[in-house]
Amino acid sequence: MNTEETHCMKNFCFCEVTMSKHIIDDAKRCLQCKNPHCRQGCPIQSPIRDAIALLLDNKLEDAGRLLFANNPLSLVCSHICHQENQCEGHCVLGQKGMPVFISAIEKYISDFYLNIYRPVPSTGESGKVAIIGSGPAGITIAFFLAQKNYSVTIFEGHDQIGGVLRYGIPEFRLPKTVIDRLAETLRKSGVKIRPNTTIGANLSVDDLFRDGFHAIFMGTGVWRPNRLNIRGESLGHVHYAIDYLKNPEVYRLGKTLIVIGAGNVAVDVARTAVRHGCRDVQLFCHLDESGVTARQSEIEYAKIDGITLTLRQTPVEITDEGVVFADSDLYTDEEGRVHARPIPGTEHLEPADSVIVAISQGPRSVIVSSTTGIDVKASGLVAVDNCGHTTREGIFAGGDVVTGAKTVVEAVLVSRRVADSIDAYVREKTRGGIAEKNSTSLS
Ligand SMILES: Cc1cc2nc3c(=O)[nH]c(=O)nc-3n(C[C@H](O)[C@H](O)[C@H](O)COP(=O)(O)OP(=O)(O)OC[C@H]3O[C@@H](n4cnc5c(N)ncnc54)[C@H](O)[C@@H]3O)c2cc1C
Ligand code: SF4
Repeated sequence: MNTEETHCMKNFCFCEVTMSKHIIDDAKRCLQCKNPHCRQGCPIQSPIRDAIALLLDNKLEDAGRLLFANNPLSLVCSHICHQENQCEGHCVLGQKGMPVFISAIEKYISDFYLNIYRPVPSTGESGKVAIIGSGPAGITIAFFLAQKNYSVTIFEGHDQIGGVLRYGIPEFRLPKTVIDRLAETLRKSGVKIRPNTTIGANLSVDDLFRDGFHAIFMGTGVWRPNRLNIRGESLGHVHYAIDYLKNPEVYRLGKTLIVIGAGNVAVDVARTAVRHGCRDVQLFCHLDESGVTARQSEIEYAKIDGITLTLRQTPVEITDEGVVFADSDLYTDEEGRVHARPIPGTEHLEPADSVIVAISQGPRSVIVSSTTGIDVKASGLVAVDNCGHTTREGIFAGGDVVTGAKTVVEAVLVSRRVADSIDAYVREKTRGGIAEKNSTSLS
């Protein structure tokens, strides 16, 4: 072993030891509450108290199994959930001091477990299910259905799985290796992955039914950037956030960047741009603090990165030189929502080399427009019942394409329920022979 390797090994061991010591010390602070508020604060009721007890009892694998069974994206969630409003925000110790550092404990346990977990491959005997989209919603459904012995195929428009986890959330918040490990675990579970395949562009859902899939899940997310609808939006130095985050390396933004928006996506864009060489990055929000929907911690990180945030500025035009803003006049509509309108005469140019628009996303209509019978709402989001059934028999949907832009944990929550619905549907229909009817009636 050369000196460099020895040095690396020493560093690794040192980090491991300090990290686990910190984790153990923190886990020991947990009061093992009878009625754990941390669990109630988690949208998917993560059994963190029991996982902590197992950890302290030297049963790390059992702790990991418990968390994974409840949420196969537990490692992802430990990195990027908004814990301050959820588990950690509800921990009783937080009422008078520091809550248990649940995210770090969950990360430690889940990271270990994903390394050692050896899934039993699905036998495929329960039926055949197609999953369109491999974001958190699709991945969760795939894990649950593979465990129930379904033959699962994921169709993904991109070249790799993960959805926003891979093509949206920056590496410094969620390492891509986490998603690579999930992809490998899915394959070991017997899930087939068909990359670079956009359903609706060439193959259609009717083709899938024809080829014997008993049910289809649409977890296609929201990938159509919302527009500002102002002059200058089509200029060459203007980009949309979700496009930029897909592969920031290919953009040449210059030194000065204006990001329009103040949500988590806008902050991810701004922080990514700083890491790709932009020197002067400014966020602009048309509302006051009420319009800043990014996590407080992310705003603080952005400030540390040297990014500024300016409130109450409404963009009225984009020019080659930058963005023309006007001061905002705020007003409240009948439903209590705050809006902004530009105050005439206050227009001024904020110079910038590039502009990125980050004002949320809506769904693309590629599947819906190529398929009959799937109803959408006015927003373009897919209409479903409580169990995730769309209006077309055999097709289910969940995640952002149903709820609009939300969070990973919410996509997991819904997907667990929809996996059960798909299971119940396929059981009933294969017994009743309706799956055959579905495939023949469409051919
Ligand atoms: C920049 C950014 C940062 C975020 N940060 C956080 C965060 O910190 N914490 C958090 O909890 N949430 C965060 N979110 C939200 C979270 O990532 C989403 O709520 C979540 O990814 C939704 O999962 P999904 O599976 O519904 O959709 P997606 O993750 O959007 O996945 C949909 C997948 O479907 C594929 N697809 C679409 N159409 C087709 C088709 N026709 N055929 C085949 N494949 C198709 C897409 O390529 C994509 O892979 C963030 C979102 C963004 C954009
Ligand atoms: S609320 Fe806090 S102290 Fe109580 S069980 Fe949960 S993590 Fe432990």
